[in-house]
Amino acid sequence: MSTIRFQALREASTRKPVQFEESGRKSAIFGSNVFNDKAMKQYLTSDAFKGVQGAVQHGTKIDRKLADYIAMGMKEWALAKGVTHYTHWFQPLTGATAEKHDAFFETSYDGSDPVEKFGGAQLVQQEPDASSFPNGGIRNTFEARGYTAWDPTSPAFIFGTTLCIPTVFISYTGEALDYKTPLLRALQVMDEAATDVCKYFDKNVKKVTATLGWEQEYFLIDRALAESRPDLMMTGRTLLGHTSAKGQQLDDHYFGSIPTRALTYMRDLEQECMLLGIPVKTRHNEVAPNQFEFAPIFEETNLAVDHNCLLMDVMQKVAERHDLKVLLHEKPFKGVNGSGKHNNWSLATDTGVNLLSPSKTPMTNLQFLTFFINTIKAVHDHESLLRGAIATAGNDHRLGANEAPPAIISVFIGEQLTKVLAELEGVTAGKLSPEEKTDLKLNVVGKIPDVLLDNTDRNRTSPFAFTGNKFEFRAVGSNSNCSNSMTTLNAIVAKQLKDFKKEVDTLIESKDMKKDDAIFNVLREYIKHSKKILFEGDGYSEAWEIEAGKRGLSNFKTTPLALKARASKQALDLFSDLGIMNHVEVEARYEIELEEYTKKIQIEGRVLGDIATNHVIPTAIRYQNTLIENVKGLKDIFGADFETIAKEQIIIIKSISKHIEGINSKVLEMTNERKKANVLTDGQEMAEAYCDKVKPYFEVIREHCDKLELLVDNELWTLTKYRELLFTK
Ligand code: ADP
Ligand code: MG
Repeated sequence: MSTIRFQALREASTRKPVQFEESGRKSAIFGSNVFNDKAMKQYLTSDAFKGVQGAVQHGTKIDRKLADYIAMGMKEWALAKGVTHYTHWFQPLTGATAEKHDAFFETSYDGSDPVEKFGGAQLVQQEPDASSFPNGGIRNTFEARGYTAWDPTSPAFIFGTTLCIPTVFISYTGEALDYKTPLLRALQVMDEAATDVCKYFDKNVKKVTATLGWEQEYFLIDRALAESRPDLMMTGRTLLGHTSAKGQQLDDHYFGSIPTRALTYMRDLEQECMLLGIPVKTRHNEVAPNQFEFAPIFEETNLAVDHNCLLMDVMQKVAERHDLKVLLHEKPFKGVNGSGKHNNWSLATDTGVNLLSPSKTPMTNLQFLTFFINTIKAVHDHESLLRGAIATAGNDHRLGANEAPPAIISVFIGEQLTKVLAELEGVTAGKLSPEEKTDLKLNVVGKIPDVLLDNTDRNRTSPFAFTGNKFEFRAVGSNSNCSNSMTTLNAIVAKQLKDFKKEVDTLIESKDMKKDDAIFNVLREYIKHSKKILFEGDGYSEAWEIEAGKRGLSNFKTTPLALKARASKQALDLFSDLGIMNHVEVEARYEIELEEYTKKIQIEGRVLGDIATNHVIPTAIRYQNTLIENVKGLKDIFGADFETIAKEQIIIIKSISKHIEGINSKVLEMTNERKKANVLTDGQEMAEAYCDKVKPYFEVIREHCDKLELLVDNELWTLTKYRELLFTK
């Protein structure tokens, strides 16, 4: 009998939910492990507090002396909460978060005078031994080391007994070695560009903040069961396994009652989130069995990204306490839905207006339409760059692979807004007559809030959908750091807003147009120009692929192809013109992402080869031997008649041999393709070779293994089966 699988099943089936008591109301504990305004007011001098506020709100610099005061207050606060260590917490280009803990504890050179120390220098800057983080040649080019630097816009927090200080990670020559730095720069550019455009409508706007509300999907599997599957442990997904007879066809899991163990886990996790100031609000079952979702109240984008990174980390840690394993991979199981991370995005002014929310007056609605149409145009002009920003090996299993959403980027806006745009498209060129303007304001622009009320046709297949007061970028992978998508989205919209401002100003100045006339004129041209990105139909249909092809939209189904746009001339110019990333930084990311893709497929190939050869084949042979014994016995008893009597057994014996032969030959061919790919020197070529030459073997090898799973005695099968992974609660 296969011991690991059955041991794991026994462990999982006898597990009791871990006892967990909430410690008071959420509102009472929210943010209590965060060095937030409340803590700062208590622990900082008013000058120090103002210094942090200035840095957060206006980006003013904090000098060393002030940093010393802030560090002192932060240390006192942390020590009072039993903290012993501090770390600079950052997001290197591995996609995960990184931390290196140092104790506050220090002594004099001779070991005397033990004391807890933490000064401005330690707060502001740290030098991790960074040579092992991916840098895409940046550090080789500049022979520079990297350092981390405090990001005061994301507050320090305590996890366990460690004070975590959110930081950027940059080389000494100033290149960003992380995901946060370009994001901060993009948000800054967005603020400037959007504030300028807002001034057409309201002179009081001083700041525009991009907001992000992510929805995190994940699977929750019993730890023993997960650990019994080497593929899950090594690659985050199952590389083989016959689909369970029951999957998600009954739709009985979606929004169903949450299983007790999962619910206890969620309550525990929510409590951790509350302490950390992550405003999680929604929890529910997702479509696939054992699949769930967590969503917070939206926040300023940089903070929201940090909170999502932190959440992904905390999710695993809390899961350990409940003997569960969180699967964040985009496609852990074949045959049931994968996981995504919807990025809900909007823009908010410091005067409290959501710029993507239609409102009561024609003037504010013209403002809404301005931001709405500019976003559509930005996506239109940079669709392949947006696609590139979400390309990963894991996400390839969703995008363009028969799963939501397709690899083609399009924008869904709903029937009502489609009509509004059609009317605006008919606006006269040049100056508008007073009658036309009145009509527009009363009957088109002024009516938007009414029409939106019944704008209920939400299209679930769209990768980028307008959902009433925000756009929802749904194509982001569940395992991704949202920085990539948010840096790109904010950069392309900021660039678009800058162009818009220029065009409107030109019409006002050179054509002597009124502001409204100029805005209507520019928007009309944008609507005409961007039409091909708008799509309201079924994104999965073959008809859409054909139609999108005719429209000239890109349709990159694999990461190596999609990534090319990351380092295209258009991307290089965009990011460098806006001061978000220079060419080296952009190219570094492209190289790193290619390499990450290659490594992931390489690892999957090796793990699959190993499991197929060392688990599946030996098990199949063992079962085949039993059958052979049986046939021999039947022959002993029945003599020449055995062939009729043992007919079925003989068929199975032959079938097993056929699949073993299939596995062996295909694993060998795959290994040869890997060897050929490994000697390629160009990163793009190597990734393409892994994608086109190595990866196709996965399905073929899997097919043989899954057929054997159906043939072989259940008692002998070593790998925990899909039904056990998906339906043990
Ligand atoms: P769904 O899309 O599932 O119907 P909701 O419309 O309630 O759900 O919102 C989903 C997510 O959108 C939530 O995380 C929420 O915080 C976020 N969200 C709502 N408004 C905004 C906004 N103005 N900016 C960014 N995110 C937002
Ligand atoms: Mg959603």
